[in-house]
Amino acid sequence: MSKPVVAIVGRPNVGKSTLFNALAGEMISIVKDTPGVTRDRIYAEVTWLDREFTLIDTGGIEPDSKDIILAQMREQAQIAIDTADVIIFITDVRQGLQDSDSKVADMLRRSGKPVVLVVNKVDSFQKLMADVYEFYNLGIGDPIPISASSRLGLGDMLDAVAAHFPEHSAEEEEDERPRIAIVGKPNVGKSSIINKLVGENRVIVSNIAGTTRDAIDTEITWNGKEYVFIDTAGLRRKNKIKEELERYSIIRTVTAVERADVVLVVIDAVEGVTEQDAKIAGIAHERGKGVIIIVNKWDAIEKNDKTMYEYEKNVRQVLSYMPYAEIMYVSAKTGQRLPKLFDMIDMVLENQTLRISTGVLNEIMMEAVAMQQPPSDKGKRLKLYYITQVAVKPPTFVIFVNDKELMHFSYTRYLENKIREAFGFKGTSLKFFIRERK
Ligand code: GDP
Ligand code: GDP
Repeated sequence: MSKPVVAIVGRPNVGKSTLFNALAGEMISIVKDTPGVTRDRIYAEVTWLDREFTLIDTGGIEPDSKDIILAQMREQAQIAIDTADVIIFITDVRQGLQDSDSKVADMLRRSGKPVVLVVNKVDSFQKLMADVYEFYNLGIGDPIPISASSRLGLGDMLDAVAAHFPEHSAEEEEDERPRIAIVGKPNVGKSSIINKLVGENRVIVSNIAGTTRDAIDTEITWNGKEYVFIDTAGLRRKNKIKEELERYSIIRTVTAVERADVVLVVIDAVEGVTEQDAKIAGIAHERGKGVIIIVNKWDAIEKNDKTMYEYEKNVRQVLSYMPYAEIMYVSAKTGQRLPKLFDMIDMVLENQTLRISTGVLNEIMMEAVAMQQPPSDKGKRLKLYYITQVAVKPPTFVIFVNDKELMHFSYTRYLENKIREAFGFKGTSLKFFIRERK
């Protein structure tokens, strides 16, 4: 089930970053071991009571002149309207109601998206509450007073946000068609791949109605089976500022990946694999999605018998955190190997939902332990009692041990490799939790 997306919009200096950090800092849950992924605080996973959501900060660099402020705010509001389920519109009680606030509020109201109006810097409810009421004039509902820096009122605000989360609709539950997100830098060939798949195979294509986010969903039927492709390339935004464009493309990648079962990470063969590719692929890895690495434009490079080997070496090095992902060398231009994509997708889907019985898992673990002694520290040796699979998508295992501290990262990796030797699990990350049993 995909998580709701919540976006923060507001003028410079009202406290967007402070609020973002307050929400992300305490309740954040991020897989830490993704090297190459710099965390520039564009998005965070937040847990509030029993609900989880992805928080995005649409505000990038701060403009310095008044007209630019409004233009930038409109841009941010549009991104929020396009990508979020709920928008937090944040204002500042100290600066008071500003003209640009009203203009953006109008825009948000017209979009029909749920908006939670927040008034920040209400550090003392007693003294400042009277000044909060003027924000009713925005016409987008009750203003909720908070103080982001002293973490006041955040609970009430999150309740108001969560009240707008879509109920898991029966329709969505029943939709068992696999969702495939195509992500990658601009111009790597994402649209070309979709167009080729659509054009070559007399497939049934429909832009699915009710898509709220600005990814374009395309239904493709292959061998009688329906797949939904989520394309992040379809809509392009004109923005001269490079940082803003990059922020926007990351927001779109996060929201598309969130909805997907399998993610196709497209890399440009001519350009080679880059740090930006690593950042994008890391978004899929963090979320435990199925991943296939697509090296596109394979027609456009000079090849000899070592080319594929060299490419693989580079890709494995830059995307070192996902050795489990298969690499495909394709051409959207000629169609080379594209038909094989569906077999690959099916395999990854199967592996994402593979369940291994506890008996078999324990046999493998015992064998692994016999072959390589578990680590020890100060005379105490790690004992592994029991392993069991507790979830799929991604496959998740719990290992019960005598002392968690003794379980070294490299030994978990060793066990993961043994499990992969036995079952493959190609295309999917595996998660491990270590628990103590007294
Ligand atoms: P942004 O530009 O919207 O991201 O705003 P920032 O988060 O950078 O905050 C702008 C300034 O307002 C900083 O100096 C913050 O310390 C301050 N600030 C943020 N939240 C509060 C608050 O709740 N109360 C007060 N008094 N100051 C705050
Ligand atoms: P997107 O921004 O990732 O959707 O990339 P596009 O699909 O718009 O492609 C960007 C450019 O790369 C276009 O000029 C395409 O014609 C070209 N292109 C895409 N795929 C291939 C390919 O397989 N081979 C070659 N030679 N060019 C390609």
